[in-house]
Amino acid sequence: MNRAFQQGIEIIERLEENGHEAYFVGGSVRDTLMDRAIGDIDIATSATPKEIQAIFPKTVDVGAEHGTIIVLTSDEESYEVTTFRTDGNYTDNRHPDEVIFVKSLEEDLKRRDFTMNAIAMSKFGKILDPFEGEKDINRKVIRTVGKAIDRFREDALRMLRAVRFASQLSFSLEAATFLGIQEDKALLENVSIERKTIEMEKLLLGRGVKFGIELLVTTGLHAFLPQLDGKEKELLELGDLQLQHLKNRSAVWTVLVHSLKFNAQEVDDFITSWKLPKKINKSVMENLLLMEKVQQVGWQRDSVYRAGLKRSLEVHEVMVVLGLEEESSKKNIETLYENLPIYSLKDIVFDGHDLMELAGGKRGKWISEILSDMEIALLHGETENERVALKEWVYNWLQKYDPNY
Ligand code: ATP
Ligand code: MG
Repeated sequence: MNRAFQQGIEIIERLEENGHEAYFVGGSVRDTLMDRAIGDIDIATSATPKEIQAIFPKTVDVGAEHGTIIVLTSDEESYEVTTFRTDGNYTDNRHPDEVIFVKSLEEDLKRRDFTMNAIAMSKFGKILDPFEGEKDINRKVIRTVGKAIDRFREDALRMLRAVRFASQLSFSLEAATFLGIQEDKALLENVSIERKTIEMEKLLLGRGVKFGIELLVTTGLHAFLPQLDGKEKELLELGDLQLQHLKNRSAVWTVLVHSLKFNAQEVDDFITSWKLPKKINKSVMENLLLMEKVQQVGWQRDSVYRAGLKRSLEVHEVMVVLGLEEESSKKNIETLYENLPIYSLKDIVFDGHDLMELAGGKRGKWISEILSDMEIALLHGETENERVALKEWVYNWLQKYDPNY
């Protein structure tokens, strides 16, 4: 058993010592049964949020009203510990009207989305599986706990989660689950965009993305995601790309936007409607601009200088995934960057004071103009970053632009 589970066992033991029940649940149990690397570890317990907070020295309240407390171990590993609960009525297809804490594990498992996610594991590794999730894992199917349409009407995000799990695990959707999505797909519009964005990213990064996207389109769910209606052909083509190689969120969204073949206005609308964090929006826009430049004139010193190495390599990675560039050109970009004469204006060995001195103390806008021209001249190799050479270059510049000089 790995270290993450080992520490999880200690948390479970502490809860038990205090008279509560506690089990591993959710993705970590599913992934263990599949021999797959686990992500985060979730623990379900009969202890209430207040009791959890009283037992552990370091906790973070991330949603006590829903029963979830994060427990931090001494080395700052975090574990989500959630009180056994059932959800009250759902009237808006996204939130339960109330959360009711319960004493039985089985009731808690019953409110979970899919059978494969509704399995609990004791600290000894004993499996508790009232909905036969393990059988479904072995058959590689995703099946809702209970009647699909009921579960999707409670929380419409579950439809997108089903497709994202299909993409991550290469599982198919059990018939009623598939038909339920086809029937209820329009309810996805009631779900907050932030929750959909998280699932969409996971879907795109899944190993079975081709299959995942096919399901997204065949269920018709895509039409209820921002700006994807009518983009069936482009989406299906996207499935052939090796998206899981992408390291950053901004790279994933850049590939997506590029593949959907939008015009400039549509790019803006798309980015705005997915409500990505500002920083990611900015990176995507910068990536798209740089990519366009590189497609027109190839990699040049100016571009690498202005974009910096990190952005340049991200764009390279994106272009490789899109089949627009060879992996091997990464070396060229690195060499271009290493050989840049300067990395910012500050690196120029001639500054504003030197310039004023040369021009007899004349201040003004011309200083920033000449520095910007000097920057370009250096990048184009027209002069060297060395004082004598730059002085001569400045004399020439002054004569050219200021006949009275
Ligand atoms: P991952 O490996 O991506 O974290 P996960 O299965 O752990 O997958 P989470 O989103 O972390 O997924 O949720 C943890 C568990 O909570 C799920 O396994 C499932 O049992 C339950 N769950 C999460 N979201 C929902 C939902 N919308 N409806 C019902 N149960 C849910
Ligand atoms: Mg999880």
